[in-house]
Amino acid sequence: MVGAGISTSAGIPDFRSNTGLFKQLQDKYNLSSPEEFFQKTTFLKNPMYFYEFTKLFDLSKVNATISHKFMNFLTSKNMVKFVFTQNIDGLEKKAKIPDDKLVFAHGNFYTGHCAQCNCSIDIEKINEGVKKGEVYYCPSCKGPCKPNVVFYGEGLPVKFFESLQQLPEVDLIIIMGTSLKVNPFAMIPYLPEIHAYKLVLNMEEVGQFGYYFLESDALFIQGKTDNSVIKFLKDVKL
Ligand code: NAD
Repeated sequence: MVGAGISTSAGIPDFRSNTGLFKQLQDKYNLSSPEEFFQKTTFLKNPMYFYEFTKLFDLSKVNATISHKFMNFLTSKNMVKFVFTQNIDGLEKKAKIPDDKLVFAHGNFYTGHCAQCNCSIDIEKINEGVKKGEVYYCPSCKGPCKPNVVFYGEGLPVKFFESLQQLPEVDLIIIMGTSLKVNPFAMIPYLPEIHAYKLVLNMEEVGQFGYYFLESDALFIQGKTDNSVIKFLKDVKL
């Protein structure tokens, strides 16, 4: 289970740190709360905000980090059931983690839809709009269109829920670079049907319910995930 912290070493800011995206967006768009930026209602009212953001969030020159490559390495050893990512930067794909292992819990920029009628939209049309600075509107209902990045107020992809069904089979959950605050993603380690050990690699303690789940069946390694996975690979013979 991974989040924005595994991509900070690639130069992409996380959300909740002091220099993170939430603060930057709140200041730029004068929002009452930073989360407001990613509300579906905000997008329907002011779709250009997200188009401008997408233009700034240029991922073409960003590369996968050691932490992403670590996940691919474990996958190549056939040790991974799923990589559940909250990230929308697509670096898991750049690290060549196979699609059947990859669960984009909060969507991605590879496909698009109309935010009003939900019909599928060719992502190239949206990308052209982003480049030109013009919102692309749905040919059927005239609603604004956006990439399939999940906003607050939108449902998670079906694959997220399907993959969850298979999780009771796992014996270890590695949690990396996430504050573990966004539900339902954050709930996964707490689900009663999962009896897996947890390995948490993060700069700070994580979890909305405190750390109780770490007491009996988890290990927390504090620090940068890239350094921790290098240390982990030195210590553990795979
Ligand atoms: P978050 O900002 O809430 O938490 C990130 C966590 O990672 C923090 O606890 C921080 O201390 C830690 N961290 C930062 N750099 C680290 C490093 N090098 N090593 C170890 N830990 C590090 O992010 P989140 O939990 O992923 O949730 C926020 C939401 O933001 C998600 O829904 C995600 O979709 C979105 N988001 C995605 C990206 C991206 O795609 N790269 C970037 C920002 C936000």
